[in-house]
Amino acid sequence: MLKNKTALVTGSTSGIGLGIAKSLAAQGANLVLNGFGDATGPVAEVKAAAAHAGHDVQVLFHPADMSQPRQIAEMMADAAQQLGRVDILVNNAGIQHVARVENFPHEKWDAILAINLSSAFHATQLALPAMQAANWGRIINVASAHGLVASAEKAAYVAAKHGIVGLTKVVALENATSGVTCNAICPGWVLTPLVQKQVDARAAANSWTNAQATEELLREKEPSLQFTTPEELGALAVFFCSPAANNTRGVAWAMDGGWTAQ
Ligand code: NAD
Repeated sequence: MLKNKTALVTGSTSGIGLGIAKSLAAQGANLVLNGFGDATGPVAEVKAAAAHAGHDVQVLFHPADMSQPRQIAEMMADAAQQLGRVDILVNNAGIQHVARVENFPHEKWDAILAINLSSAFHATQLALPAMQAANWGRIINVASAHGLVASAEKAAYVAAKHGIVGLTKVVALENATSGVTCNAICPGWVLTPLVQKQVDARAAANSWTNAQATEELLREKEPSLQFTTPEELGALAVFFCSPAANNTRGVAWAMDGGWTAQ
């Protein structure tokens, strides 16, 4: 379905971004991966996902720090130069920090706003002209259940995620008469390194085992008592890229086990 398209997924060396990259590659898209850490494993995983589905795709990696607008611009230019243009942009890179507002470190606030929100604005601004010229494009913002509702001790994260849902709607409206769509995905808990850190903190604070801390984390917010998986989120991203989603614009689609239905 996505043969000859190029997808760029920010923060795709791990977790949800890597899952979405694999799902798009399995539909035949070329991929630009991004994130911190050694990219050898993620690049191989994405190529294998494509090969498993019978596709031979190109997979590049760019190590841009998404808190740095100049590095974002270099990555977007590199992707366009090497693969033609970016047809699908998935703004996924994100970090978390947990503290009450009165104790929230300023540098953590700035970093979360820069990586979880401003990076999506910068990448979107740079991706749009080529998408508009082609009259086809897909921008998918990985928000969160925290883009729809709040939790204590997550001021920066909740502010950034509500912000990216707003950005999603504006980009969708500004391009509503074109073939360029913009939508957000709002996952509940997904067991990635970002969440494992929160499980570890709960286990340490309460002298719980990993299993007890995991169960408590789910019970507090997620009625299904199940994690959403990167594969399920990847399938939703594929749907947003499909012709069936041509007129799906500006939605913030929860995949959260009932978290925001409460
Ligand atoms: P993760 O920690 O597994 O992956 C985060 C990715 O972002 C990694 O590839 C990391 O290298 C990259 N990254 C971090 N800072 C970066 C920077 N400055 N520049 C470039 N890359 C950077 O986390 P995840 O759980 O897969 O989270 C991915 C996205 O999903 C985030 O936006 C997160 O807020 C969102 N999300 C996660 C959950 C969850 O339960 N895990 C739920 C809802 C939303």
